[in-house]
Amino acid sequence: MDLSIVVPCYNEQDNLEGLRNALQHVLPEVSDEYEVILVDDGSSDATLAEAHRLSEEDPAYRVLSLSRNFGKEAALIAGLTHARGDRVGIIDADLQHPPELFARMVPLLDSGYDQVVARRDRKGESAIRSLVTKLYYRAVNRLVDVPLQDGVGDFRLLSRRAVDALLSMPECNRFSKGLFAWIGFDTATISYRNATRAAGKSKFSFPKLLNYGIDGIVSFNSKPLRASIYLGLIITALAFCYAGFVVAQTLLHGVGVPGYATIIVSVVGIGGINLLFLGVIGEYLGRIYSESKRRPLFLVKDSTPEPEAVPRPRT
Ligand code: UDP
Ligand code: MG
Repeated sequence: MDLSIVVPCYNEQDNLEGLRNALQHVLPEVSDEYEVILVDDGSSDATLAEAHRLSEEDPAYRVLSLSRNFGKEAALIAGLTHARGDRVGIIDADLQHPPELFARMVPLLDSGYDQVVARRDRKGESAIRSLVTKLYYRAVNRLVDVPLQDGVGDFRLLSRRAVDALLSMPECNRFSKGLFAWIGFDTATISYRNATRAAGKSKFSFPKLLNYGIDGIVSFNSKPLRASIYLGLIITALAFCYAGFVVAQTLLHGVGVPGYATIIVSVVGIGGINLLFLGVIGEYLGRIYSESKRRPLFLVKDSTPEPEAVPRPRT
């Protein structure tokens, strides 16, 4: 198999046909043996039926249906596990990723890269969201050890060894943006115009984006824990200085008026910082807990047609 395209689909019934038509224009041009893996991530609409219809019309379309909604990261990894291609492309089902870019990505990959990444600009997005994203990436790149780039998502083409590298990472808290960066290899980037979704609604609400942002920071290192040590040291030093000052004042001038302001400020301030870092510790603990269970990342309910080779089990 020359080229596999993995498409995570969650409630995308109105987009699959359009996606197929768009892919039809580009895939036969860049490859003479390709497959498209539609991963149905436990959709509650007619996505699965639609996917089966496409695969009956064209045997190059394979359907992988997960037993429930596992989330996009899991759907992606399910697709990658079942992909047989020497090159593997990843694309969203909602046509926000222009499929015709594969025509540029394939030759670039062949010229010696292991990852060709499509980077979207942020035209047409609200000014606040662009600003928040910009600040976030600036902060995150200080904190994490892998370089994360704004506008770079899952839309990309990978070589077989890059895919194998991704699959060799067994963690279940997967922040794929970071994993893609972590595996390294030579990476080429091309840009495209930001587009709006063809049909349906985005599955990523603001709280989900916030959680995604926190994942980005804690997935790749333990610097937030280190930060809590530094902050603790600073506060302890300040507290000692202040204690010395209070003792000296009491010895020199006797007991003064009790300081309400000082007490309330220190109680609230230190309490807040305590809670914050308790949360940080809890976050890591929670991750250790979920990793230690070693559950599979996804469960397959059905796949058509049966892949010839059994996908490797998780070790
Ligand atoms: N998706 C998925 N499982 C989910 C959520 C999303 O497979 O639980 C898929 C979705 O069908 C789409 C892609 O992931 O193909 C990106 O989702 P969406 O368009 O909602 O995200 P956005 O473009 O708004 O970031
Ligand atoms: Mg989208």
